[in-house]
Amino acid sequence: MLEGLDDRWDVVGLAAGSQASALCAQAHKFHPEGVALVDEGPSSRNSDWTDKSIRTFRGAHALVELVDHVPCDCVVSAVVGLGGLAATIRAVELGRRVALANKEAMVIAGALLIPLAAQTGAQLIPVDSEHSGVFQTLHAGQRADLRRVYLTASGGPFRTWSSERMAGATLEDALRHPTWNMGPKISIDSATMMNKALEIIEARWLFDLRPQQIGVIVHPESIVHSLVEFRDGSVVAQLGAPDMRTPIQYALTYPDRMACPSDRLDLTAMSRLTFESPDEERFLALGLGHEVAQRGGTCGAVLNAANEAAVALFRRGAIRFGDIVPLVKQTLSEHQCLATPTLDELLAADRWARQEVTRCTTC
Ligand code: MG
Repeated sequence: MLEGLDDRWDVVGLAAGSQASALCAQAHKFHPEGVALVDEGPSSRNSDWTDKSIRTFRGAHALVELVDHVPCDCVVSAVVGLGGLAATIRAVELGRRVALANKEAMVIAGALLIPLAAQTGAQLIPVDSEHSGVFQTLHAGQRADLRRVYLTASGGPFRTWSSERMAGATLEDALRHPTWNMGPKISIDSATMMNKALEIIEARWLFDLRPQQIGVIVHPESIVHSLVEFRDGSVVAQLGAPDMRTPIQYALTYPDRMACPSDRLDLTAMSRLTFESPDEERFLALGLGHEVAQRGGTCGAVLNAANEAAVALFRRGAIRFGDIVPLVKQTLSEHQCLATPTLDELLAADRWARQEVTRCTTC
């Protein structure tokens, strides 16, 4: 999609986890100043994988080094999970605009990132479709007049499944998202609705909301991405086709809007839009999201890490789908929360939660 923005943007840095060939193809196309490759697997050892004039950073610190050494206006933070945190913090320290697709960074370290951004002038622009919607609709009123924010949820592939059927769902079932085409981790998080729990916490930090100001509403069509309600009862919604190119582009071009290759919304082609309350008995993750938004401190790091560990176990076939959220809940209940943690304490909480999930599943 960047092709449509090339008179406005130059790609100066590119990063990849282990996909050296995809990184190489993009480097040939965009001629960046630097590239980062985190996992130095066999495919990346081929020495001619990139142009010699491009600065190359490899290994565990590659992302931070790329952010550090390649000056830019905007860093798109889109590495899933904990892996994106350090580079996101560095970009905020440098006062960059951060287009934030890595919601886990905010879930884990919102208590650090928000004051840091205020200090350095870094702008945190959400890419997450619901938060992009909130970000856009908040402009419709004064902050003091905001009553409540509603994040919409598709309900995932198991919206109509019973708890018993859901408990034994296969990996293939969990990956079959009805409206969004996404990576495996976030698809599984959508199936448990842990994705929405993470988004509650993300919204709490990004928009400085009290947890009771954040509602979740199930909207299977994924056309309304979020709604905000003001003091006078007006509800302002942001609508669009379920196509991530729109929120990604908006984070890059804000406050301007530009033509986008995303699918267009045809309101007359839709027979209806439906909304329902989420079933918090079947989707226990939602309660955990509100609990963590309330408790703050190290709880976000624990929730995220326990969930990443449990999802990895499910993907390996080591636990059932129905075990994911109870494992996270149990881990969270055993955690001694620190209210104002340092980054080291957040990382220690992350490690503890991963070990705890492993301990619980092997004993
Ligand atoms: Mg989202």
